[in-house]
Amino acid sequence: MTQASEAAAGEVWLPDWAWADGAMQPAWAVAVAGGRIAASGPAPAIQRAHPGWRAVPLPRRLLLPGTVNGHSHSFQILMRGMGEDDNFFSWRSRVLYPVSERLSRNEMAWGAELAFADMLRHGVTAVADFFYLNDRGIDNALAVAEAARAVGMRLVLARTFYDWDGAPARYRETPAEAARNTRALAAALQGDPLTTVQVAPHSPHGASAPMIEAAVAAAEELDTKLHVHVAEGEYERQQVLAQHGASPVAWLDQLGAVSRRSVLIHAVWTDAPDWDLIADRGAAVIHNPASNMILGDGIAPVPALLDRGITVGLGTDGGCTNDRHSVLDEMRMAALLQKVHARDGQAMDAATAFRMGTIGGADALGIPVGRLEAGWAADAWAVDVGDLSLLPGPPTIGHVVYALAATAVDAVWVAGRQVVAHGQPLHLDPERVRWAASWQGRGARG
Ligand SMILES: [Zn+2]
Repeated sequence: MTQASEAAAGEVWLPDWAWADGAMQPAWAVAVAGGRIAASGPAPAIQRAHPGWRAVPLPRRLLLPGTVNGHSHSFQILMRGMGEDDNFFSWRSRVLYPVSERLSRNEMAWGAELAFADMLRHGVTAVADFFYLNDRGIDNALAVAEAARAVGMRLVLARTFYDWDGAPARYRETPAEAARNTRALAAALQGDPLTTVQVAPHSPHGASAPMIEAAVAAAEELDTKLHVHVAEGEYERQQVLAQHGASPVAWLDQLGAVSRRSVLIHAVWTDAPDWDLIADRGAAVIHNPASNMILGDGIAPVPALLDRGITVGLGTDGGCTNDRHSVLDEMRMAALLQKVHARDGQAMDAATAFRMGTIGGADALGIPVGRLEAGWAADAWAVDVGDLSLLPGPPTIGHVVYALAATAVDAVWVAGRQVVAHGQPLHLDPERVRWAASWQGRGARG
């Protein structure tokens, strides 16, 4: 035994159950040191192999790998309650653009803090924030990174390249400005253990060909992923076909924007040649089922993508087109949507949905999370298997994807640091909650 005065080399987490190696494992142990998983396996063997490490008993708990929110716009939480029951164009002109024009840097950052805290308490441990309120600089994005740091969220800051002149001026830059600012942002956050800067040309409707090409070059230069909205609505497919004689995915490919770096957001209005192209290039897709349903976009062809070996992750999208921040909800929605679309209850199973919400998102974003396995980041969450939503036991992955309620979430860790206890974010400033509860920034509805 180690003396009490001697610092332990690490911790051994001891849940009653864990989802590891693609199966529900009883009496599991996860050894954690330096923010990473050192070992994962049956409890007796792991404990024997780590004498002197601090045991952390997690009785009546199921330990799950942290979920990955592959696509979000954190500031849009401030529009929650304003954009529902609308279609894309009306939502964009009535809610998104006017509110975007009004937000201060503090409001963006405080909104982000609330959105990230809301995600954490639903078991999300990493998020890609697709950020375009740039004001031709990097200070707003740095404020969002600070918000993630404050609450303990792992962040991929997908810094947008945008130049369509129909949008608010504060989204827009020239290609050279966008490249320069993204370079500066990456330099400012270099070495940050929890934040990664990636490149994000907005979409075929929000970025011109020169802007998309500048983003492709920046992603090469900085060696990052390349996030791009594509084929979300039917209108975009028709518009790009009419203008360029190619599908949106094929047109992006002509600009060099479909590659192993690419994280294609939505990909709803795609067909078999698009799927073959995405598979061929090694690009990934982020599926946002709740957002697609709220805006009436359509149903993404997820089984066809998975059949081709394409990496598919899940995203919540913004807080006013969902309106939840739970990847667990997206797993449930993803599976149910494919079942109803195919009129086949076997169209997608719970394990596939869970894999998309963890490993799929992690691989799409290129970050070392999503598994309770040695060598991966110690990002995890523990749920109470005695919660009414998980009875009767023993827990299955079906319990997790279809039944688990937020009331079951007990603890969440990011890089081995606890960020949620008893279901509550530990590091959220209560002042943010008071501020948001009486926020006067919504303005008149347009
Ligand atoms: Zn989006």
